[in-house]
Amino acid sequence: MSLLTIICPCYNEEESVRLFYQETIKNESFFAQKGVEMNFLFVDDGSRDGTLAEIKKLREEDERVHFVSFSRNFGKEAAMYAGLEKAKGEYLVIMDVDLQDPPKLLPEMFSYLEQGYDSVATRRVSRKGEPPIRSLFARMFYGLMKKISKTEIMDGARDYRLMTRQVADAVLSMREYNRFTKGIYGWVGFETKWIEYENVERAKGETKWSFWKLFAYSIEGITAFSTAPLSIAAFVGVLFCILAFILILFIIIRKLIFDDPVSGWPSLVCFILMTSGVQFFCTGILGQYLAKTYLEVKRRPMYLTKEEE
Ligand code: UDP
Ligand code: MG
Repeated sequence: MSLLTIICPCYNEEESVRLFYQETIKNESFFAQKGVEMNFLFVDDGSRDGTLAEIKKLREEDERVHFVSFSRNFGKEAAMYAGLEKAKGEYLVIMDVDLQDPPKLLPEMFSYLEQGYDSVATRRVSRKGEPPIRSLFARMFYGLMKKISKTEIMDGARDYRLMTRQVADAVLSMREYNRFTKGIYGWVGFETKWIEYENVERAKGETKWSFWKLFAYSIEGITAFSTAPLSIAAFVGVLFCILAFILILFIIIRKLIFDDPVSGWPSLVCFILMTSGVQFFCTGILGQYLAKTYLEVKRRPMYLTKEEE
C-alpha cells in the first residue's frame, strides 16, 4: 500500500473543516482499488476560531487525520511549506479547505500520475463570482510576469496540485523565506499535467485574501521571480542622458543662431520634478529588493509549530 497525504491549510475555517473532510473522503474507495491509502494533514495557520477544535474532533473519529498547528498566522505559503515538510505520503496533494478545489477531480488527477507525470496542476479557466477589479489585476499580473520572468507562471493556476514525493522534495529544497509557490513549481520543472476547471465558489465562510493582501503577494511574485524591475533604473538613466544630450545641442544651436537671453525656467522646473520622481521610483524598486534580501539573510524559520499530532 502506498500513501496519499491530503495537505490542507486552514485559517479560521471552523465551518468548512468537516465538510471538506466528508467530501474528500468520498474518494477513499477509488484510491483503495489502486492500492493507495489516504490520510489528512490539516495545517492550522494560527486560526482564532474553533478550527483546531474541529480538526481534533475529526482526529478522534478517524486516526488518519493529522494536524500541525502554528503559534500564529504565518500565511498560506508557510502553511503549504509545513504541510509538504510534515506529510508522510509518497503522493501529496495540496487543497483549500473551502471546497474551491473540487475533491472529485482527484481520481482524474491521480490517473495522470499513473501515466508517468510527476505532478498534476490545476487552473481555473473562469473567474466567475469574483470581483471584476480583482480579475482585472490578476490578468495584468500574469501578463506582466509572462514578459519579465523566465519562470513559467500559469494564468489562473491554483495551489491545488497533486505531486510525487520527488517534486515535493524539490519544492522543499528551495528554502527561500519570501515564497511564491506558483513560481517555485515552474522553477523546479518536472513533467506537469495541467487540468482546467470552472471556478467554484467558496462553500462556507469568506475569503481570507483582501485586495491589498493579494497586491502585496503579487509584488512578492515579481521580486521573487524577476529582476527586470531593477534594470528599469539603468534603462531610464540612459534614456535621460540621451534626452539631456539632445537638449544641450538644441540650446547651443539656439544660442548661436538667435542669441537667446535666459528664459525657460518653467521647463526647468518640470524637468527637475520629473527626474527626481523617476529617481525616487527607482530607489523604491531597489528598496523592494533590498528589503527581500534583508529578510532572506536573517534566515528566520518559515513557521513555528505549537502543536502537532
Ligand atoms: N489560508 C491560510 N492562511 C492564510 C490565508 C488563507 O492557510 O493566511 C488558507 C485558507 O484557510 C484556505 C486557503 O488558504 O484553505 C485559501 O484561502 P481563501 O479561500 O481565503 O482564498 P481564495 O480562494 O479566496 O483565493
Ligand atoms: Mg477559497
